[in-house]
Amino acid sequence: MNISTFRKSNRALVVFSGGQDSTTCLFWAKRYFDEVHAICFRYGQKHANEVDIAREIAHEAGVAFHPFDAPIIGNLARNSLTDTSMKMDEEQPEGSFPNTFVPGRNLFFLSMAAVFARELGIYDIITGVSETDFSGYPDCRDSFIKSLNVSLNLAMDEQFHIHTPLMWLNKCDTWALADELGVLDLVRRKTLTCYNGIPGDGCGECPSCKLRRKGLEEYLAKKGKN
Ligand code: ZN
Repeated sequence: MNISTFRKSNRALVVFSGGQDSTTCLFWAKRYFDEVHAICFRYGQKHANEVDIAREIAHEAGVAFHPFDAPIIGNLARNSLTDTSMKMDEEQPEGSFPNTFVPGRNLFFLSMAAVFARELGIYDIITGVSETDFSGYPDCRDSFIKSLNVSLNLAMDEQFHIHTPLMWLNKCDTWALADELGVLDLVRRKTLTCYNGIPGDGCGECPSCKLRRKGLEEYLAKKGKN
């Protein structure tokens, strides 16, 4: 095998949705890598404007934007993010996942991202998953990401490195990181995290908005004291 296969370049691919976490990761990547690309998936999410928002943010960040259609992810199993007839779980049911869980989503996203990264000659992949506020989703856990990293390397005989800058941060810490990166306002105004599809501060009612707001209030209170 040609040794150049293993040569690291200073380029990275971010798995990007236009939400708070992946937008923070996008700007984190811009700090540590010279050239940043963003990959975004349409997987049948109810709020298709997510992709338009992601495109706008990538444009503002000066990052190449690569959208892909992957509706099969939403079609393989029922979940309330892609099925309009399902009412979204407000709380995590005892002993199971909330129905906002899209089984295998990060497995598929990261696998497709790795194939595309390889195509671009990129081996550093960044994802905004976090074990701290992971809502019970098993594919946000560090053990899963490390295991998948090994599997992807074996699958393609490459040396990928999956970076997870938010893995041990809670929402308050993630706001602090956005602020440190100089993009707190941008993240607050432009990103879409709300399950009801309202950008910025969102609907204020869904579990995602509540988590986001609680983190922001905590961070602003902490910042005010300093
Ligand atoms: Zn909301």
